[in-house]
Amino acid sequence: MALLLFQNFSILVAVISITLEFVRSSKVQYQSVIMRRFVLGTVGGLIGILLLMSTVPINSERTIIFDFRFVVMYLSAMYGGFISSIITSVIIAFYRIVVTGANVNAIIVSTSIVICGVLLGALSHLKVNRSQKFLIMNTVVTITIMIVSYLIFNNFYLFMVNSMMFTSTTVITSYFLCRYIHFSIVNIRNYWQLKIDATTDHLTELANLREFENRFDELFEQCQENQMPISFLMLDLDHFKMINDTYGHQTGDEVLSELAQILIKSCRSHDLVARIGGEEFAVVMLKTDAGKAVDKAEEFRKAVAEKMITYEEKSIRVTVSIGVAELSDEIADFDALMNRADRALYKAKNSGRNRTVLENHNQAKI
Ligand code: GH3
Ligand code: MG
Ligand code: MG
Repeated sequence: MALLLFQNFSILVAVISITLEFVRSSKVQYQSVIMRRFVLGTVGGLIGILLLMSTVPINSERTIIFDFRFVVMYLSAMYGGFISSIITSVIIAFYRIVVTGANVNAIIVSTSIVICGVLLGALSHLKVNRSQKFLIMNTVVTITIMIVSYLIFNNFYLFMVNSMMFTSTTVITSYFLCRYIHFSIVNIRNYWQLKIDATTDHLTELANLREFENRFDELFEQCQENQMPISFLMLDLDHFKMINDTYGHQTGDEVLSELAQILIKSCRSHDLVARIGGEEFAVVMLKTDAGKAVDKAEEFRKAVAEKMITYEEKSIRVTVSIGVAELSDEIADFDALMNRADRALYKAKNSGRNRTVLENHNQAKI
């Protein structure tokens, strides 16, 4: 019996761990809340089915059985709220009837599971702290188990054994699994926050230089393999130091954010846009030859020059200079392409700013 009990417990822990690993590795947080609750409820229901499939007989007549189904129901309500709790309990209740047929006991058990699911779901939204919620919700689970045991056993001994077994194990297991899930969720949140901090520029929310280099290497290889054209735009705000000196650093920050927005709006989703320095930005345009890249750069340049940026009742106009380079046979890596775009940018600055220069095969076109 101990072995079977351990097996039932292991199923529970294994599926919870796999779910948490999935949450950590995928961008589940970008899904809608309803979708997450729906998925959580369904996963809870499936765990419930697995637990019922390996339910543990406590006595030789198999009149008393045990599994961790109420733990799953509690966790589903605790972490997925009302929707999740309802879905989990309905799936478990339905499977319970499928297994044994619609006899009186199965209907009593299944109905109580659904009622318990509704109550747990509603209680999970209570505005109390986690410990109080744990106590209240586990009290509901305990009462449900005792009522069901009372209704299906007409023998006091069986009633006591079943109630004690289910309630004690459910409450203790819920407590430890709740702690495990809570710490895992905290770790997952920290992991994602660190990942975002390490790859994103906090002011503009564009990719930072490190992320840009990493993603560029991947794109570079991809384009070389598939012989796809790829162009690189390097943008630098003109006389930005003067903007800071005249209007203040915060206004300068606002200008940088606005420029980032213009870039994001003008680029396609598969283009790579990054802030690679103080007032320097880069755009990698896939499947774009030099001619098209210059057209796009001119579009950016005009959009920036026409934009009136207002911040704290100050209206400012800024301009950008843009260097463009296209990947070609003699460019071996990221640095070579970046150097070429940098040279083009230098020429744009030296020839009067607010312009686009294409550096191609050691020739500059303005
Ligand atoms: P040029 O047209 O030659 O590019 O002149 P510039 O003034 O734009 O270039 P310079 O390199 O002389 O100055 C860049 C300025 O960008 C200096 C620095 O204070 C400012 N800067 C860099 N990072 C930030 C930032 O995050 N916020 C703000 N507000 N300013 C920044
Ligand atoms: Mg600069
Ligand atoms: Mg500048």
